[in-house]
Amino acid sequence: MDIGFFVTWLRVAATQIRQERGRLTELDAAIGDADHGTNLDRGFTEVCRALEDWPPTAPAQALLTAGTTLIRRVGGASGPLYGSAFRAMGKALQDPVTLPGFAAAFEAGVVAVERLGKAAPGDKTMVDALVPASRALTAAAREGLTPYEAFRRAAVAAGEGARATIPMRARKGRASYLGERSVGHEDPGAASTALILEALAEVAVKEATREVD
Ligand code: ADP
Ligand code: MG
Repeated sequence: MDIGFFVTWLRVAATQIRQERGRLTELDAAIGDADHGTNLDRGFTEVCRALEDWPPTAPAQALLTAGTTLIRRVGGASGPLYGSAFRAMGKALQDPVTLPGFAAAFEAGVVAVERLGKAAPGDKTMVDALVPASRALTAAAREGLTPYEAFRRAAVAAGEGARATIPMRARKGRASYLGERSVGHEDPGAASTALILEALAEVAVKEATREVD
């Protein structure tokens, strides 16, 4: 996992967010203010631009640039939350990047979100997708799986975590104002977390097939 891997991850995430912008915004329309797709699309487009303007010289730097850009450019709760996650991940990431090292850095990113947003699993936020993804990564690293297998498991765990928010009642963020009426809808932030993890698994499978070639 070199600099190119992390830059590609962020670019693929940006593409997926662009493609799913409408769905993310619809989810936010149901329990928020209908801006999550546009917020993240704008933020990740700026991340891609920043990575071109200031090409990172280490994997950690790619994540730091992404985090700073998201904090600066995304209005709404998700900008500072994702921004802090990427910054904390960047600060914790050691070069060269190993799977256990990445899993530890990801965990640091999740802790940063929990600290800033004060949400716990079950509150119907992105934390409900981030925590299972982090656990899956740590377990996969311990089992000695390949990065691709680990990221695939993390993406599945994040997707399941996002779907599990549907019956939850929101206790944090804008959706919490709806109280009982937030039940029955998937949390938009958990859905975008699942997309970002899906992008990670996609990039890893491309790397794995490139290595085989
Ligand atoms: P806003 O709610 O300010 O319009 P977004 O629509 O971009 O911002 O993001 C909403 C998402 O942010 C929610 O779906 C939820 O996942 C996440 N979120 C909101 N508040 C918190 C919080 N305190 N902790 C963790 N995640 C949160
Ligand atoms: Mg919103």
